[in-house]
Amino acid sequence: MAQLQIVKEGDPILRKVSRPVEAITPRILTLLDDMTETMRRAGGCGLAAVQVGVLRRVVVIEVEEGTVLELINPKIVAYSGHQCEVEGCLSLPGKWGKTNRPKAVIVRALNRHGEEVEYRGQDLLARAFCHEIDHLDGKLFTDVVVGDVETEEQ
Ligand code: ZN
Repeated sequence: MAQLQIVKEGDPILRKVSRPVEAITPRILTLLDDMTETMRRAGGCGLAAVQVGVLRRVVVIEVEEGTVLELINPKIVAYSGHQCEVEGCLSLPGKWGKTNRPKAVIVRALNRHGEEVEYRGQDLLARAFCHEIDHLDGKLFTDVVVGDVETEEQ
């Protein structure tokens, strides 16, 4: 596994829409492994491929330590409720803000074996699904922030 460079705010790639993965090649599997390594080393709980400069619809999430969810071409198929909690992003170091998100979501995606998987997420996991899938559409949490973005020196 390799640690990749995380793209930071201001880089125009973060505003681009990622393309679906058509075939799960060894390159995609390596990308998943490297993204998990990169997310863990950076101390994050989610990472989208665009954040390491790859415009593919690939996401990794680790909200519960030791359980990495690998999502290829993820889609939110149902959502319910509402939450407004503090969110940050590895591409916007030192920035925090409250966002409006659904309380619970159901996500469908492919896993690394090309099988369709479905995950239910509540609270932090629901926020992580929404945040990472937004990245695939070129959106950042600051687009949905409620009130001020807090900034802290790194
Ligand atoms: Zn992010």
